[in-house]
Amino acid sequence: MSGAGCMIALRGPAATLAGNPFEQPSRACLTYHDDALVVIEDGIIAAFGSHAELKDTLPAGIAITHYPDHLIVPGFVDAHVHYPQMQMIGAYGAQLLEWLETYTFLAEMSFADARHARRVAHLFLRELLRAGTTTAMVYCTVHPHSVDAFFAEAERFDARMIAGKILMDRHAPKALLDTAQRGYDESLALIERWHGRGRALYCVTPRFAPTSTQAQLDAAGALLKTGSGLFLQTHLCENPGEVEWVRELFPARASYLDVYAHAGLVGARSIFGHGVHMHEGDFCTCHAAGAALAHCPTSNLFLGSGLFKLFDAVDPRRPVKVGLGTDVGGGTSLSQLQTLNEAYKVAALIGQKLDAVQGFYLATLGGAVALGLDDRIGRLAPRMEADICVLDPKATPFMAFRAGYCVSIEEVLFLLMTLGDDRAVRATYVAGRAVYDRDRAGDPFVPAIAREE
Ligand SMILES: [Zn+2]
Repeated sequence: MSGAGCMIALRGPAATLAGNPFEQPSRACLTYHDDALVVIEDGIIAAFGSHAELKDTLPAGIAITHYPDHLIVPGFVDAHVHYPQMQMIGAYGAQLLEWLETYTFLAEMSFADARHARRVAHLFLRELLRAGTTTAMVYCTVHPHSVDAFFAEAERFDARMIAGKILMDRHAPKALLDTAQRGYDESLALIERWHGRGRALYCVTPRFAPTSTQAQLDAAGALLKTGSGLFLQTHLCENPGEVEWVRELFPARASYLDVYAHAGLVGARSIFGHGVHMHEGDFCTCHAAGAALAHCPTSNLFLGSGLFKLFDAVDPRRPVKVGLGTDVGGGTSLSQLQTLNEAYKVAALIGQKLDAVQGFYLATLGGAVALGLDDRIGRLAPRMEADICVLDPKATPFMAFRAGYCVSIEEVLFLLMTLGDDRAVRATYVAGRAVYDRDRAGDPFVPAIAREE
């Protein structure tokens, strides 16, 4: 399909961020055309603009897919999610540490079976695409084959994905522990196998400070130096009990973040999940290092972790990069629309208002900036990789009724982030290919490479 010179175009209403609405007025940051063309060549956006302007530049005979009454946006970016936790989403009645002990470790132990890992990776990739998410930063389990299963499935869709094997050498069931050395060796082998292969990128992944010894955190720091463009993901300041535990485990460190900084883990490609209980000094450290936070509102509410101070984090005087994470299975939905729904309410509970443009920034360009990939993804613009989501603001009778009362693109976006979920995703394009179409008869998913069984 995508041989040399393969060109297609999408037509319909389209919106994309062109700036940071936490630093400039929202209206100035949104580019919207009520009738746009997105021209795609070999998986890359070749042109984006109004149909009236671009239609005469199209070569004769080009295939144009028309989505009137829809909204074409960049594919969503999920900055924090655990694919092995799909089977325990909605686990009842615990806060973070008890929840890990009671549910999470048990679920992750089932990934000792490579076939199980492949089955869940197969489902997870499809559910991401059904939600319009085209890039995610993903935790696998301690088992190296859980990473192989995930990247192999992502490769079938040619999707830009970041993932890594969890490093964990203490305070977890024996079956889930590696050692500092084994975790290093296994991660290095995975880096050599996957990092930069197609669109795959590797992320060094210590679960969080309590489950790694100092030796393992130091090994993670050493791993980051083994190749260029490697990422680091871990958890930070999610829950008060966890913060207190870290204080006891690392009494010499000035803060939870300082534990990571001491091991060389706080840099421009570091993404810390949560950051709910952070202080001004921590924000300054993240800003100075260029490190990012993943805001995971459904998870923070579900586990009772606390309310993330989004507008403190992005304060223009020393802005910290923030992406939006679903954090399934602590989070309750893989839909970034539903995640935005809760992000709005979390901000509201601390007296702040997240407008629709700011919300869509977090879910698209802001996520790309947080992951350091904004030169490739997150916008509809020439030279960007053609990862695109086609939203349907009239996906349900209720939404169609409500949409009839929307008088601006901002209201349509806000409707989508309030009532929308995977039903509101009409189609998902990855590298210029329609890999998911909600309304396609039979299997709505069409991988770039068929699965060999
Ligand atoms: Zn998490």
